[in-house]
Amino acid sequence: MPPSLRAPRGTRDLLPDERAAFARLERTALELAARYGYRVMETPLFEQAALFERGIGAVTDVVEKELFRVLPSRGEEREAWALRPEATAGVCRAYIEHGMQTLPQPVRLSLTGPMFRYDRPQAGRYRQFWQWDVEAIGDAGPAIDAELVELGARFYRDAGLTDVEIVLNSIGDPACRPAYLARLVAHYRAHLVRLPELERRRLETNPLRLLDSRDPAMTEVNEGAPRITDHLCAACGEHFAGVRAHLDAMGVAYRLEPGLVRGLDYYTRTAFEFYRRGAEGQQQALGGGGRYDGLVELLGGKPTPGIGFALGLDRVVLALDATGGGRPAEGAPVAVVVGADPADTVGRLRVATGLRDAGLPVRADLSVRKLGRQLEAAVREGAQFAVILGDELATGDVQLRDLDGGSQKPVPLVDLPALLRRKVRS
Ligand code: AMP
Repeated sequence: MPPSLRAPRGTRDLLPDERAAFARLERTALELAARYGYRVMETPLFEQAALFERGIGAVTDVVEKELFRVLPSRGEEREAWALRPEATAGVCRAYIEHGMQTLPQPVRLSLTGPMFRYDRPQAGRYRQFWQWDVEAIGDAGPAIDAELVELGARFYRDAGLTDVEIVLNSIGDPACRPAYLARLVAHYRAHLVRLPELERRRLETNPLRLLDSRDPAMTEVNEGAPRITDHLCAACGEHFAGVRAHLDAMGVAYRLEPGLVRGLDYYTRTAFEFYRRGAEGQQQALGGGGRYDGLVELLGGKPTPGIGFALGLDRVVLALDATGGGRPAEGAPVAVVVGADPADTVGRLRVATGLRDAGLPVRADLSVRKLGRQLEAAVREGAQFAVILGDELATGDVQLRDLDGGSQKPVPLVDLPALLRRKVRS
């Protein structure tokens, strides 16, 4: 292969060890989704670009800079498409398109799958990454907000991450945010000379984003910024107090962070993120979510409240690797069927197939090489046993060699499934 042919920058192959770690996280996510009553669905990997432009907001990074636009090379359709950068907009589009407002509310939905953002790749930031997404559409909360936050926190615990912190804020709603934004803009205007170029531009388009700027020059300016939680309207204040009261009642610990804003336009009120304790400074949230009470209407549906989260699975795998909780050892066969007659691949495959019929993870050595080499390969694979086919086969026996202990004894072929089944490592 010419060296120029590689996985695109910002993407990677999930080789079997890492894929197994992902599969385990997906199983945890789907089991929790079922336990909490979230039904699994899928949306297309690409959608009309307008869905994201409208639903996420044209002046967000995700749409302005990070959208992977899809141009069909031929055909009649001249629609502009984009790979999905997140799941919420697609799920809400599906909710409207399939008339889910007629179902009992809230509609609880969940999906896992790849998302795409044309971002600058770095550790923990990819152009294709995987999320577990959960949405509850049709409940104005605040109890459901707390239930979702608790669900997210439980996922990390069940996945094996014990040091995950919940960070919580309210970002108001269209009733109180404009007045707050005016104060915020006034504050930044008073410090205009200290604002970096990007922040100056954002001040005009999306001033809330300055609060979670990654630029160190902003730290001090932000310390003096007005806090949205000091300027919530009565309804938003009550909602926020309700979310906290429900979390407190469940014994869920969280940290209030008035600087937490979500990068996407459609969020209202509750916003939350999950961080590994001590890793907040790296701007690497493990996951995040929030309420989006205006989104369904914005996309053409009836006014409908909603809340959801998206947890990045790549970052959980990285965090598990970092804490040594890493990768499940999977895939080693319980036995490899080898043979004294290198040419008898038929015999080996027949015996292996019989054992697989009995549900056992078994491999047949299909190479035409000497028995010694076949046995070496079985050991390298991590198999517990070698089933050796030799002359005894004429009387219905095989040799069963314990590759860990080295002992070997003849066993009737008919007894082999039951015997091996007892030995499968759990
Ligand atoms: P967001 O919708 O940006 O809040 O993303 C939710 C979660 O998805 C984040 O907390 C990350 O764990 C994960 N995530 C977002 N963008 C990326 C990326 N480019 N690479 C890897 N994970 C990501």
